[in-house]
Order: sequence, then C-alpha cells, then structure tokens
Amino acid sequence: MAVSDHVDFNQFMDGVKRRNPHQPEFVQAVQEVAEDIFDFIQDKEAYHEAQILRRIAEPDRVISFRVCWEDDNGNVRVQRGWRVQNNNAIGPYKGGIRFHPSVTESVLKFLAFEQTFKNALTGLPMGGGKGGANFNPKGKSTREIMRFCQSFMTELYRHIGADTDVPAGDIGVGGREIGYMFGQYKRITNRFEGVLTGKGLEWGGSLIRTEATGYGAVYFLAEMLATKGDDLVGKTAVISGSGNVATHAAEKIVQLGGKVLTLSDSGGFVHDPDGFTQDKIDWVKAHKTHRRGRISEYCDAFKGATFHEGKTPWGVACDVALPCATQNELLGEDAKTLVANGCKAVSEGANMPTDLAGVHVFKNAKILFAPGKASNAGGVAVSGLEMSQNSERRAWKEDELQQMLKDIMSGIHDTCRQYGDQGGGYIDYVKGANIGGFKKVADAMLAFGVV
Ligand code: NAP
Repeated sequence: MAVSDHVDFNQFMDGVKRRNPHQPEFVQAVQEVAEDIFDFIQDKEAYHEAQILRRIAEPDRVISFRVCWEDDNGNVRVQRGWRVQNNNAIGPYKGGIRFHPSVTESVLKFLAFEQTFKNALTGLPMGGGKGGANFNPKGKSTREIMRFCQSFMTELYRHIGADTDVPAGDIGVGGREIGYMFGQYKRITNRFEGVLTGKGLEWGGSLIRTEATGYGAVYFLAEMLATKGDDLVGKTAVISGSGNVATHAAEKIVQLGGKVLTLSDSGGFVHDPDGFTQDKIDWVKAHKTHRRGRISEYCDAFKGATFHEGKTPWGVACDVALPCATQNELLGEDAKTLVANGCKAVSEGANMPTDLAGVHVFKNAKILFAPGKASNAGGVAVSGLEMSQNSERRAWKEDELQQMLKDIMSGIHDTCRQYGDQGGGYIDYVKGANIGGFKKVADAMLAFGVV
C-alpha cells in the first residue's frame, strides 16, 4: 500500500530543516512556496501518493568542485564552484551563474529551486538550475577574471550542454564573463552550440537579452497597475541595485512616464529628487559596467543628489518599489515603511529580495506585490528564446523579441491571476505564481513515474 505524505505543514518544514542544516536561504525559499502549495494539494491524492512536494524540495543533483587559478602576482588561489541541477521535468536545466563572495550551497539551492517555478511560468520548456562560485570579481584585473572563468569552465563543461543544462549570467557574471566561459567551452569540446545564454550578438546571442529582466519587471508592474485602471505615468519609483536588472528597470520606468528616485549598490543608496533621466541612467550603466565604479560617485557627477552610506532606499516615499539588487534586502520593517508611505505596488527584479516577514506585510496590506519568480522571469524567457534561435541557427528581429517578451510577461500575469485571485479585487500574486509554476512541474513529474 502506498505511503501518502499527508503530513502537516510544520512536520514537512521540520523535515526540510533537518535534511538541510545550515541552509537558511534554501529553507526560506521552500517555506514560501510550501505555504501556498499545501492548501492547493490538500485534496489532490495523486500528488500525495507520488510524494511530489517532498521530491520537488530535493535537487536532482548538487555538483561541487574546486576552482584553482593564478592571480597577477603568481599566487595560487582556490575557490569553490557549484552547479545545482534542481529539476529537469519540463526541459533542460536552465539558470544563471553567480560570482560573489556570499555564494554558498544554500544560496544556490534556493536560487535553483525558485528558478524551477519561474521557468515553468514562462511557458517555455526549461527546467531549473543555478551555479556559481564564492569568487569576488571586485578589484580583479581582466586577466584574472579570464583565468578564473576558464578554470571554472574546465570543470563545469562536463556537466552542461545545449540539451542538458544551459547556464546564463547573474550577479558578477555579465557579457564579459559569459564570453570567457563560452570560449573555454568551445575550446575544450570543439563544439559551437547554445550551451550558454547571454552571449554576444556576434556569436549566438539574442537581441534584448541584456534588457529583458529589468524591462520585464516593469511590464509586469504595468500589468498589475492596469488591474486597478492605473499606469506608470507620473508615478515615483524607488529602485535598489545599479546593475543589469536595476538600470534596465529604471530605463523602462522612465520610458513609461514614471520618475525614478533612487539606485543603490552594496555601499549605500543615491537619492536624486530630480529623477534619473535616460542620460543619468546611461552614466550609471557605463560607470558600473565599464569603469567598475561605485554608485556614491554619482553625486560628484550630478548636483542635487545625495548618497546615504550603508543604507537601503526603502525609507524614501514612493508610489512603486522595485528591489533589484539581491536576496533579503527588503525586510519586514522596510515593508511596513513602504506601506505606511503610500507605496501601491512592488515588483521584485531580484530573486527573493523581500524576506518572509516583508512578504507577509505586503500580503496583509493587500498591495500589488509581485514575487521575483513571476516579475523577473523576462530574463530567462529571452534566454529561452536565445536557445530557440541557436537551435534554429537564426536571429530574430528586435521588435519580434520585444513583442514576445511582452506576451510572455502578460501570460505570467494571467497565470498568477488564475491561481491567485482572492475575490474582492485582490490578487495574491505570490500564491498565483507558486501554484501556477508548481502545477506544471508537478504534472510532468507525475507523468514520468517514480524517477
Ligand atoms: P549585477 O549586474 O551584478 O548587479 C547587482 C547589483 O546588486 C549591484 O548594484 C550590486 O552592488 C548590488 N548588490 C549585490 N549584492 C549586494 C548586497 N549583498 N547588498 C547590496 N547590494 C548588493 O546583477 P543583476 O544581474 O542585476 O542581478 C540582480 C538580481 O537580479 C539578483 O538577485 C539576480 O539573481 C536577479 N536576476 C537577474 C537576472 C538577470 O538577467 N541578470 C534575471 C533574473 C533575476 P555592488 O556593485 O556593490 O556589488
């Protein structure tokens, strides 16, 4: 007789904690999803019999490896690299690579878990994965970055492939790093294939991939506002981060008539009461990407702006907020401040930037709140389109891709609404995204039997 997993929520979470000691980020991500899934599967015996929730909270595999490289002074340096292949029920593993000193197995397991549902929401055939290393790119020379990327790929190449696992960029990994890694993959395997996304346009990359995550987060925000008959014209926006996601979110907000008041980095935030215009955003992009500078230097270039060292921007009054830097950067108290200051909508550009307490504040206040797995899915969606273009050996035009991105974000919004509509005009987007993503992956897993 089958053993059903009719355990209660606390028993389930106790098991997750016991099996994943010292992995708080992973436990947090599982809890956020399980809170919604528990209710949804309550009366669905097939999921219980197949132990789907228990299985979905266990990565397919976690690969950990040593990465040795030589710095410019000839010293041998040693880092740890990982690839978490979380779930490939609906397609090859897909998810970014992060280089940051805060990277741990817990962080990558949480990101790979989230990625699985996010990728399902896009409607494209992509499983979930994530990888990275506890390598700090800050202050490293271009040669050092190249040697590190080559060494990282010298191990990673044996675990990935265009139909197996297709990594992309993430924090600390942009076009330059993807180039070095792709070059090394090609050199080792003698294959030119769509094994990485976020590639340069000359060698298999897709138009609008760079912009897609930030733009997508704003398209999703606009979809949420539209449910209230509202739009972004004249709205003030507070944004954290000043990397890829943050700067493109800022750009799209400005294009749609809003006013961006803040950007930040790990040193603090800049408040520009006059608003970040396109010229100012271009300056930030060049400053952070090419000059590898700090956001504090913005105040030397533009009068009227102030820098707030060591602070996050959530205390600045705004209509909409977009956390676009990193996980757990918006805490319960910050969420209360935003709501008290009249913030109407939050669209997460980063992955899990709002902690569980903050999520509960937004849900209780019933403001429009989009979790990253829905609102930041535009990046991986265009990565999926890059994979299709690589398989077809062709490149689509920009306007075709823009339309596809808009359609995908709108489709994700529809899915969230389908599973998250609570009546009385309130859509619980967290619940909608969790159930919509889970259902697709879980149903595929059921079809495969016990594997
Ligand atoms: P990025 O270009 O490397 O920029 C990251 C930004 O966040 C930088 O401004 C960085 O500041 C800041 N930051 C990083 N760690 C921080 C910390 N511990 N505290 C405060 N600020 C911190 O990375 P990104 O691609 O924009 O990614 C940002 C977020 O979006 C991540 O959560 C990522 O997983 C998520 N995301 C990215 C994509 C994508 O397509 N790139 C897709 C989906 C989700 P410093 O310069 O000081 O480090």
